[in-house]
Amino acid sequence: MSDFTVLKFMKRFPDDESCLDHLMSVRFGDSITCPKCNQESKFHRIKKIPAYACQFCGHHIHPMAGTPFERSSTPLQKWFYAMYLFTTSRHGVPAKELQRQLGVTYKCAWRMGHEIRKYMTDVDGDGHYGGSGTVVEMDETSMGGRKRNRDYMMNRGNPQAGKTIVFGMVEREGSLQTHVIKKRTRKAIQGHVKKVVKGSIVSTDEAGIYKYLTKAGYIHGTVCHEDGEYVRGMIHTNTIEGFWSRLKNSIRGTHVHVSKKHLPKYLGEFEYRYNMRKSPKWMFERLLGSF
Ligand SMILES: [Zn+2]
Repeated sequence: MSDFTVLKFMKRFPDDESCLDHLMSVRFGDSITCPKCNQESKFHRIKKIPAYACQFCGHHIHPMAGTPFERSSTPLQKWFYAMYLFTTSRHGVPAKELQRQLGVTYKCAWRMGHEIRKYMTDVDGDGHYGGSGTVVEMDETSMGGRKRNRDYMMNRGNPQAGKTIVFGMVEREGSLQTHVIKKRTRKAIQGHVKKVVKGSIVSTDEAGIYKYLTKAGYIHGTVCHEDGEYVRGMIHTNTIEGFWSRLKNSIRGTHVHVSKKHLPKYLGEFEYRYNMRKSPKWMFERLLGSF
């Protein structure tokens, strides 16, 4: 866990002003060439609006423009603190908790949570996997669809009804990414695979959707879960399956239920945390530095 404690947070961001100054310096640097008068200029904080003005021509820069806070009336320090909570929690932050800690309405807390998840998703991005000898695990899982009784009635007991299928790829010792897919088909995954995986050894279970990989030029190894086989040398899917199980446990424990519509944002949030796992200290810094 990060050693960036609440006390350190408060010292660094004691008020909204310090947060705005931070945004300004991260986004525009300390020496700014004014986009209007083209001179290297000092920008001064304007009293009544959250903006800075050029010392020569008075041109305004709004450091919140284009950030998740732009159209929000919630004070900047609360946003920063909410992001701090997201990066120091292992299982995510429910809206109720944000509401309590920030003293905002539930509706506001809920919206903030989603904005932060979206932002974490963007900052995380999707990497490329490749190089000889690297192993990429792929797997899919079903999530959600908890309203069992109603779904059961409507879908005649189809256990997959109402569920969302998530496809994931992870490079061993490297980064992970997930994608919501419509069906468990080759067509649904091949675009994602082609885009990011180059020349790795691919490790999957024996599901049909992966059969094309050898023909597509990948070295492809499988383990047969149905036969009780889980590891064959370096071929296994334990990394991605570990991620699925922690993800599901966290969502179950923290949020109870996540709708299909919002699931991608939660996935992005947990990917961010997973991909930063080796440098937890930087989880918050990276969010703060990526506007
Ligand atoms: Zn100027």
